[in-house]
Amino acid sequence: MDQSLIFTVEPVTARYIAPAGDEVERIIEIRTNPVTFRTSRVSLSRIGEKEKGAEALPDPPPDADLRADCPFCRPQVMMKTPRCVHHLVPSGRLVRGASLLFPNLFPYGRYSGVSLFDDTHFVEIGTASVDVYRDSFLNCAEYLRRIRTSDPQAVFMAITQNHLPSAGGSLLHPHLQVHADRIASNHHRFLHLRAAEYFRTTGSRLFTDYLRHEQQDGGRYIGTTGSWQWMAAFAPEGFYEIWGILPGYTSFQRLGEDDWENLALGVIRTQKFYRSLCRNGYNLGLLLIEDGNDSLEMRAVILARSNFAPWVRNDHTGYEVMLGDMATFVPPEETARLAREFWK
Ligand SMILES: [Zn+2]
Repeated sequence: MDQSLIFTVEPVTARYIAPAGDEVERIIEIRTNPVTFRTSRVSLSRIGEKEKGAEALPDPPPDADLRADCPFCRPQVMMKTPRCVHHLVPSGRLVRGASLLFPNLFPYGRYSGVSLFDDTHFVEIGTASVDVYRDSFLNCAEYLRRIRTSDPQAVFMAITQNHLPSAGGSLLHPHLQVHADRIASNHHRFLHLRAAEYFRTTGSRLFTDYLRHEQQDGGRYIGTTGSWQWMAAFAPEGFYEIWGILPGYTSFQRLGEDDWENLALGVIRTQKFYRSLCRNGYNLGLLLIEDGNDSLEMRAVILARSNFAPWVRNDHTGYEVMLGDMATFVPPEETARLAREFWK
């Protein structure tokens, strides 16, 4: 397969006779993700549609005040959450500022942790401070650093977030998931091969070159927070998908506190952007492969999910689940234009 980065948009025309009797053409863009080669679709005719449940930012969910029932609220967090094994974290939990990190009671892999931001039980999207996100990221980095030392084979790592149950969050209390395993996830496995093969055939790094293309094109580029470079994804696999690339950094161990803070700043700005669209749910992901292969750079992916509100439709339909092509409605160039307001 050709390893080069190719940005392809193929417009497809659908024709029908409208109810009024006139023949109508509707344009669908089929875009190919230059990194994964996966196609996604932008159904441009739906851009003006106001989704049910997104006319205004939804009200807080019913359990927004139920601190006493929450295992992540103090004081019960110390009784209801597990502790790390002694050789990994002798004190059982990692503390950084107001952030607390402990193992997931229901793990998904060999190392499966939860990193709280603070003791605030419900946080409206876009209202968290950069400091609590920085500290929670730093806690994740410390956890991963310890795993790196004690289990050098567990190189497939990730930091993720499911903000609100519509994005998969099982507890309202905001938190990150931190993951490490010896066995790659599908995306780790693909990116590992793709970045290494790209480096071998071109002599340069995949995300550095992707970023260079996007900076030169300009249409999807949003701005910076420190060394992080932000842009709308060329071929989105979620609504209003935004990437933050940290060019040249292939290991989290090279990041300083300011790099984590600048990642936090980009996340909060993206949240404020989603809030402006009356969206209250999103996913975040940062995948790391700590095997010393110097080809896969750090990239954060953030995308809006269906709102957490009554009777809202899910954003994954038969099209996404069965055909495997994400269909969104907003061209990434428009996403970038709207998001730039939050980088000023
Ligand atoms: Zn809570």
